[in-house]
Amino acid sequence: MAFTPLLPFDSFTDREWVEHTNTTEKIIEFCQNIGLIPISPTTPCAKQHNNWYMGACARSRDKYLWRCRTCKSTRSIRDGTFFSKSKLELRQVIDLLFYWSQCNDSHEHLRRHCKFASESTIVDWKNFMRDICATYFLLHPPTIGGVGHIVEIDESSWTKRKYNVGRVVNNQWVFGGTDRITHECFAVLVDRRDAATLLPIIYQYILPGTTIHSDQWAAYNNIRNGPHHYIHFTVNHSQNFVDPLTLTHTQNIENMWMCAKMKKKRQMGQHVTLLQTHLTEFMWRRRFGDRPFENMVRSIREVYPLL
Ligand SMILES: [Zn+2]
Repeated sequence: MAFTPLLPFDSFTDREWVEHTNTTEKIIEFCQNIGLIPISPTTPCAKQHNNWYMGACARSRDKYLWRCRTCKSTRSIRDGTFFSKSKLELRQVIDLLFYWSQCNDSHEHLRRHCKFASESTIVDWKNFMRDICATYFLLHPPTIGGVGHIVEIDESSWTKRKYNVGRVVNNQWVFGGTDRITHECFAVLVDRRDAATLLPIIYQYILPGTTIHSDQWAAYNNIRNGPHHYIHFTVNHSQNFVDPLTLTHTQNIENMWMCAKMKKKRQMGQHVTLLQTHLTEFMWRRRFGDRPFENMVRSIREVYPLL
């Protein structure tokens, strides 16, 4: 079922968000409207009746249960949903979705606004959000560019530090590309920067017929000779930032690396997250631009379809 949000949640202010979700009833109705809780369970009760209604229950942690009108049996409103394994309040989970979407996802902010009891809960949930981003890309392998698009490619060096020591212990190369029109991107860890490593990644992520801009790194020499009919322009960075004749430049991807590294630095705190999962979240956010909440809900519905 296609999901069309009833309201522009991604442009909600914090006040609007709180007003929209400030009672248990509003939260449940909201989750039903966005398809994270069913309007009615699709599977019957143990006695095979399909006659559910949602009834109040002060003793249940969500304050409501599904009740069978025929045999009076009950079922948690979380059954068969993305919430089923969580120990958190529904309120905490949807607040986390909202603040994460808005990039208000520092530990400080989440601890204060979602009332998380422990740091490890925050770390677990942020990892969980990244897992959803990764699963999304497994289901929808990312490709960028196409005829009429310019994709800038570049390799970037990321230092890996040992946090208790503070010195650089080694270097990790990341190879990536970004589409100038859509701002979608890819970024993957690579052990080597040779043609045998980079060309297959280019073929995997960049659509045929794309115009590719890069620096004059030797591994790129054969880009235009492959089966994908790329058009390839280079800029000699020892002479210019922008090639004076072809106007080739790689300033968008350099900006992209800067943003990704700044976000990584902000996010890290004292918790070491895996670089590729961080890059995957970055790619996911680039893909969905200014509608992350709406699209995170879509991704969750795809990864955790209602049973
Ligand atoms: Zn029943």
